[in-house]
Amino acid sequence: MKQGLGLPVFPGVAIGPAVVYRKAQRTIPVACGDPAVEQKKFDSARETAREQLTALYNKAAQELGEDKAAIIEVQMLMLDDLDYLEAVTAAIQDGAAAAQAALDCGEEFAQVFAALDDEYMKARSADIRDISQRISDILCGNAGFQLPEGSFLLVAEDLGPSETIQLPRDQIMAFVTRQGSSSSHTAILARTLNIPSLVQSDIALEEAEACKVLAVDGFTGKWYADPDEETMAMLLKKKEEAAADREALEVYRGKESVTKSGRKVLLCANIGCPEDAEAAVAADAEGVGLMRSEFLYLGRDTLPTEDELFEAYKKVGEIMGDRPVVIRTLDIGADKQVSYMGLDKEENPALGLRGLRICLTREEIFRPQMRAIYRASAYGNLSVMFPMVASVWELKAAKELCAKVRAELEAEGVPMKEVPIGIMIETPAAAVLAQELAKEAAFFSVGTNDLTQYTLAVDRQNAKLGDFYDPYHPALMALLGHIAKSANEAGIWAGICGELGADPKLTETFLKMGYTELSMAPGRILGTRRLVCESEV
Ligand code: PEP
Ligand code: MG
Repeated sequence: MKQGLGLPVFPGVAIGPAVVYRKAQRTIPVACGDPAVEQKKFDSARETAREQLTALYNKAAQELGEDKAAIIEVQMLMLDDLDYLEAVTAAIQDGAAAAQAALDCGEEFAQVFAALDDEYMKARSADIRDISQRISDILCGNAGFQLPEGSFLLVAEDLGPSETIQLPRDQIMAFVTRQGSSSSHTAILARTLNIPSLVQSDIALEEAEACKVLAVDGFTGKWYADPDEETMAMLLKKKEEAAADREALEVYRGKESVTKSGRKVLLCANIGCPEDAEAAVAADAEGVGLMRSEFLYLGRDTLPTEDELFEAYKKVGEIMGDRPVVIRTLDIGADKQVSYMGLDKEENPALGLRGLRICLTREEIFRPQMRAIYRASAYGNLSVMFPMVASVWELKAAKELCAKVRAELEAEGVPMKEVPIGIMIETPAAAVLAQELAKEAAFFSVGTNDLTQYTLAVDRQNAKLGDFYDPYHPALMALLGHIAKSANEAGIWAGICGELGADPKLTETFLKMGYTELSMAPGRILGTRRLVCESEV
């Protein structure tokens, strides 16, 4: 047995096979000098791609139905697109390596598709990129991430948001990463999925690959490769106890979150995609306090269309019914990067063009999102909030854009409900300006992950700064108190949607400060409700 340590981000015990996720190596081999040989390589890779897609199609058709599998069929048809094949052959004749020709022509065609007016054809640009990447990967000897059958513990150096979004959630029993931090998005996803997970662990990827059974103790942060009998017995006992604890919380299901003195708090869920709304309902959430809508933009090659966004928001609104849903507008930037927006590489992305700053400088990105939210408002109880606000003028400018979009939709006769506009408070500037901002915002939701990072000047992603990332820091507590007080005085509600919202050590403190909403991973709701109901505040 080998063992080690990591930083636990969600409690629980997981025991099972380990699967190691390695990032794709994309070094393109140089052309061999003979176009005929390169062409042969391309043709053979194309056939391998066809075999892979056929297998994928069969699996998807069986598990998800033929209509969902149709997307793969489209990609298979593209493998025979004569224009694409001719372009590749021409590039190879010009001296390009087969893998490079596949990628370059894929990109060229993708851009042509993306520029078309037809929504269906626009969406095909992602498909052509995808098959070109597949062919190129085959030619580079890069098998990609081979998804195993059944459940497993996923071990990786690190996982970016766009990688986690593509993972098969129902198969993953735990995450174990060597990098990451407790407020990184892998940790957030682990909490959403209620799975024990470790970041900053000292496990070697080779070690994980070599073991038959990996066990993770999300209470202590320990991992065990091929645990011995005694350890296994200890872990199984813990697992049973954790299940019993969860069972004990069931008495709080369906109960109101009210303190002994009658103070009411709304306990909401943080979600990333529409499907998470089902988990929120299953966890007895009283609403959605944060929909991280940027997850609709990750793991793809083109901007989602207004209609795609509309369908996603409508679905969340419908699933949640009368319960409030707060949709955060796109918070791309910093650790959540997408290639297709054409954003420059930045020296310091956490302080760069991110969050609302993108929306204010790229109206063509903001407008479809707001149109989709307003259109979806007819199907639920939706609010919207902006991330990364630092100045009052930013909020005013964003509200003006919203008013324009709303007026446009009204003129089109689109049915809409009132959509309150609030903001996230996650920069020290916004915290300090809370009184001013409260005059313009319908509510505040505090993003403690970023507010901690920016207040303490400590990168939330940097694994080496663990002890310095102190969410209990007195400076942060002072800001949190000021934010709630400013909101209460202005008569607007204030909530917390950063990871601290679920911290049992702070629940009472937040109630005393005057917060009336806490939003968290769905799995934390019943435990927090118990604390609220037992509180005298
Ligand atoms: C936060 O910063 O606390 C927050 C909720 O937003 P995110 O974690 O998505 O940056
Ligand atoms: Mg944030």
